[in-house]
Order: sequence, then structure tokens, then C-alpha cells
Amino acid sequence: MGSQQTNLPPHVLIFPLPMQGHVNSMLRLAELLCLHDLDITFMVSDFSHQRLLKHTTVATRFGKYPGFRFQTISDGLADDHPRAGEKIMDILPGTKNVTGPLFRKMMEEKNCFETATRRGITCIIADGVLSFAGDLAEEKGIPLIYFRTVSSCSFWACFCIPDIIEAGDLPLKGNGMDLLVKSVPGMENFLRRRDLPGFCRVNDVNESKLQTLKTETRQTPRAQAAIFNSFEDLEGPVLSEIRKYMPRIYSIGPSHSHLHSRLESKNMQLSISSGSFWEEDRSCVDWLDSQEPKSVLYVSFGSVTLVTNDQLHEFWHGLVNSGQKFLWVMRPDSITAKNGEAKIPVELEEGTRERGYMVGWAPQEEVLNHPAVGGFLTHSGWNSTLESIVCGVPMICWPYFADQMINSRFVSEVWKIGLDMKDTCDRVIIEKLVRELMDVRKDEFQERSKHMANLAKKAVSEGGSSYENLESMVEFIRSMIV
Ligand code: UDP
Repeated sequence: MGSQQTNLPPHVLIFPLPMQGHVNSMLRLAELLCLHDLDITFMVSDFSHQRLLKHTTVATRFGKYPGFRFQTISDGLADDHPRAGEKIMDILPGTKNVTGPLFRKMMEEKNCFETATRRGITCIIADGVLSFAGDLAEEKGIPLIYFRTVSSCSFWACFCIPDIIEAGDLPLKGNGMDLLVKSVPGMENFLRRRDLPGFCRVNDVNESKLQTLKTETRQTPRAQAAIFNSFEDLEGPVLSEIRKYMPRIYSIGPSHSHLHSRLESKNMQLSISSGSFWEEDRSCVDWLDSQEPKSVLYVSFGSVTLVTNDQLHEFWHGLVNSGQKFLWVMRPDSITAKNGEAKIPVELEEGTRERGYMVGWAPQEEVLNHPAVGGFLTHSGWNSTLESIVCGVPMICWPYFADQMINSRFVSEVWKIGLDMKDTCDRVIIEKLVRELMDVRKDEFQERSKHMANLAKKAVSEGGSSYENLESMVEFIRSMIV
């Protein structure tokens, strides 16, 4: 490096797994680092990049940071791959077999992205499931930080998988699902077999995916540090367990709220676009404007969940029978049908007009922040969970797979800000839980959720734990170049 380059800032390469939730939260991390004047190269799959450009103002959002660059790469899947439901997990072998070698070649050909005005990469922040990025970082002697986009509780349970297997609680075979799992320190009193990450279920996913999960999680401590999109008042005890294996853990979340708070303090405009892969239908906000405070249940199952026609009908009848108003996000590609006819049944669409509103994709953060929203029926994806927590919206959890199984248990049993409807989809139960959340136990849930929302806001404000952790992390990244 020439002497003229010694004044240049650190250059961080950020590499998410190319899925909506992962890209979204790592984009927020990228923006937080841009606000600290670091140079960023953000690796994104061609597929994700096209969607970001098509449906969001991400280009404008990052246009104001001269140090930010996108770099595209293949995710290893065919263009017409559905990238939804269980099939989304094809992304793991895709990235390992195709993206990994391409990344290596790119780093070599582009001399670690060094230019006359930018240092070569001084630190890699990779999604915790991309171990190939760790291999390359080690080979090239580049400091590595893993970013875990899942909850700390889910990470910790996965980390303990070898012990859970040894104790005989895994693999799950469908019986004894309510037995307590005693081999995850800190969770002995409430973690049941059915709350273990979805990939532990033999009928869900095969052995190799469990192995991948185990291996990818266990290799996290090879990095110099790890980042969690969480905060100490939410997951402090779990983070302490993880720190026994890996002392340098930065909990800097909830990242979206943290970003808003930092932008506000610099008098910078908040980005309306969240980084969605689908076009946001903002008409639902107008509809919410005409509803009573805390009267609407927001229903959304995230970016990859699939629902069958039968489940759709159970949800719809349960919602209608509860008498509550609802705003339902029904992604066009989220319905599976036995006869191959996958579309929203006409009678549901028509029937909904009287009782609620349906959109293909919503501006979720804005919706959750709307005074008319009083509850969230969610698949318990980690981003959705955090977004709900920040807005103080209690949840009914219907986890679909992966970390969602344990997130929902924490929502109901540890934080007590919602109800867990795992492993059932029945109109009578749905009606009962909606009534409980929005009516019978409304005050109790609202109060606890508000308390947690205040703790989240405190964490990302100046002097709060996430705020301070981000400062220390940036300092650590800067110390890598001196
Ligand atoms: N989301 C959105 N509009 C919707 C549904 C979801 O913007 O109609 C966003 C949501 O705000 C969250 C992300 O999509 O940031 C979903 O991430 P999560 O981790 O909750 O679930 P995943 O999609 O990864 O299963």
C-alpha cells in the first residue's frame, strides 16, 4: 500500500446469505458502518440485487454514502428457482458450491477490492452460515467477524446440538415433543423438544441439513468476533452463555431501530424503503388510518413461508370468527395447492373486504408502528419479532421452520409478550388466541410489550448497550489497520 493510502478508512466487506431477512438486516449494519465513515463493499446475489433495485429506493438510500459499493455474485440457483418454502434451503449448497469459489476468484482477481482510493478489504463481516468466507479470511489473514441474523437463543440452542444429541433428545422423531430438553444451559425449565430449531425434525428436513446447521454454528468462534441483532435486556443471559465460548460478542440490535436512532441524531432523513424484495403496497396504511386505535391484527408470515389452501381457510375462518379487524399480507407466491392451482381463493378475497384488508406485501415497519395495530399474527422470523418488539405490538406466533420454533417459545414463556400457536392450525384455536391477545388479556400483553419496547429504545440510544457495543465494534475494526 502506498503512503497516500494510510489515511484511508477501514474497508469492510459485508456478505449476507442471499435471503430477504439476512440481506435486510445486513444492509442496516452496512448503513450503521457508513455512518461511521467506513468504506463498505456489500456482496449481494444477482437475484437479490435485481429485486432491491426494482422495488426499493436502496440505490438512493446508499447513494449518499460515498464509501458504499454493491458487488454482485451468483447465489448458485437457477433464475427460475422458487426461492421459497423449504426449497429456500437450496441456497445453502448453492452458496457453498458456486458462490464460494466465485468469491475466491473475485477476491484474487480484484486484489481484495483495493483501488487507488480504497484500501484492500481490512475486515470481512460474513453471515454466520457462510463458512467459506471464514476459510478465505483465514487463508488471506483478513480479520473476520461473523454476523448472526438469527436470535441469540436460537444460535445457542444450535450450538448445543452435540450435547442435545448425546442426551438423547435428538433427532426428533415426532414423539415426546413436550418433554423438556435439559442440555441447553439457561433453558432447562422451558425449552421443549418441539421448540428446537425446525431442522432438528426428522420429517422436516433431512440429516444433512441438521449436520450443516451444527457445523456452521460450531465454527463461529473461529472468528475474532460475532455480531448479534439483539440487545442485552432481551437476551442478556443467553449472550452470557455464548460469551463463555467467544468473549467478543457485539449485540447491536434491534438494528432497524438502532439505524433510525443514529440517523435521527444526525438529522438525516429516515429511509422509507426497508430493502424489500417485493413491491410494498402502501394502500394498507390508508386503510389503517381509518381504523380504531389498537383494533387491527396484522397478519404476515414473512418472505419464505408457504401455506396450504387448508391452512389458509383455517386462518381466515379463525380471524373472521374472532370478530377482529385484520390486515393480512398474502404474498402471491405463498400459497401451495394440491392441484397446482396456487392463488388466493376468491371467496376469501371477497369476504375479507368486509372485515379487513389484504395486500401482497406491506411496509411492515410502518404498519407495526401504526396506532391502529394492536397485535401481530407472525411466523416468528427474527426480523419480524424484533420489529414487533420495538413497536410494542404483542404477538401470536405460528412458527414455520428454523429459528422461528424457539423464537416463539421465548415470546410466550420468557418475555411473555404473546402466545405460541406452534404445530396447530385450527380455526377454533386461532379464534380463541386472537380473542385472548386482542381482548381478554389485552392490557396485560400491551403493558409488557410496551415495557420491552422501551428497553429496546433505551438500548439503541446514546449510552445504551447496543449503542455502546456498536462504538466498541467500530473501534475494534479501526484497530485492525494500525
Ligand atoms: N416484510 C415486509 N413486508 C411484508 C412482510 C415482511 O417488509 O409484507 C419484511 C419484514 O419487515 C422483515 C422481513 O420482511 O424485515 C422478514 O424477515 P423475517 O426475519 O421476519 O422472516 P423471513 O422472511 O426471513 O422468514
